[in-house]
Amino acid sequence: MNFKNITVAGSGVLGYQIAFQTAFHGFNVTVYDISDEILEQAKGKFNVLGEAFKKDLNATQKQLNATLKNLNYTSDLTTAVKNADLIIEAVPENLKIKLGFYQKLSKAAPEKTIFATNSSSLLPSTLAKKTGRPEKFIALHFANEIWKHNIAEVMKHAGTSPQVFDDVIDFAKAIGMVALPIHKEQPGYIVNSLLMPLLSSALELWANKISDIKTIDKTWMVATGAPMGPFGILDVVGITTVYNINKIAADSSKSPIKIKVSKKLKKEYIDKGKLGTTTGKGFYTYPDPAFEKKNFLK
Ligand code: NAD
Repeated sequence: MNFKNITVAGSGVLGYQIAFQTAFHGFNVTVYDISDEILEQAKGKFNVLGEAFKKDLNATQKQLNATLKNLNYTSDLTTAVKNADLIIEAVPENLKIKLGFYQKLSKAAPEKTIFATNSSSLLPSTLAKKTGRPEKFIALHFANEIWKHNIAEVMKHAGTSPQVFDDVIDFAKAIGMVALPIHKEQPGYIVNSLLMPLLSSALELWANKISDIKTIDKTWMVATGAPMGPFGILDVVGITTVYNINKIAADSSKSPIKIKVSKKLKKEYIDKGKLGTTTGKGFYTYPDPAFEKKNFLK
């Protein structure tokens, strides 16, 4: 892998974190978004993110200054990709927007550029054709708060070249990630393939009144040694996201238990503004949620 120039498309929740993390590790990064106003907002967010890097990673001011120097900005796609070895796409999770983006990108990018999507729910094979270079297209999936939850799921589609797979794995390691190679397409990658069944089962136990929230979490924590249970995790994910995912599943499956979960989440949490850690209230109250207290596991 001899990547130097990395372009990040989309400077939203994940894109600006990916750009900063990559610049922090010494790469020359171009941040691309649809307008200069949005890019200005991203610049503001980088300063806040720098504080988190100081607090969580003991980053020095010198390192942060070097990081900011490695960041360039443009709202012109051709300029954004003209020297790119790799472009990481973090545009909204919407099929139409992604397809439109790849159509334009396929014309604007030089032949050498590898394309990687950060999409959480769209399989790379769905987008591969529009890239015009399926062999140089791959999924590179990060988690929110990338500098702390530093995993990178690197997932091939059937047409990705083995060299591109290896290079993107090496790149992920070079920006401080734990790289997780995924050899075949899998909806939800590894993390969500493991997590979603756990979270759905917990919500169903609760909605069916099999047990209460604290007992369900306590069961998981004592039995597996995990630092939090499924409801603690649901608060971190955010109850709006949880509700939206569940509502889609309820509407499409018409499953009575999913409908029950959906209604309960809406009435008891969404309508009351209890949305998880971001609002300080969800299944637990924050800071100092009950599951972190000494006697919780007794
Ligand atoms: P977001 O809505 O916060 O940000 C999207 C950004 O893309 C915005 O800045 C928007 O202006 C920009 N944009 C819109 N159209 C564009 C275009 N045509 N070209 C370039 N930029 C464009 O979205 P997000 O939450 O950062 O998600 C981005 C991707 O990352 C999605 O595919 C999502 O599945 C994935 N992802 C998100 C999370 C998360 O926790 N938010 C976690 C992992 C992966």
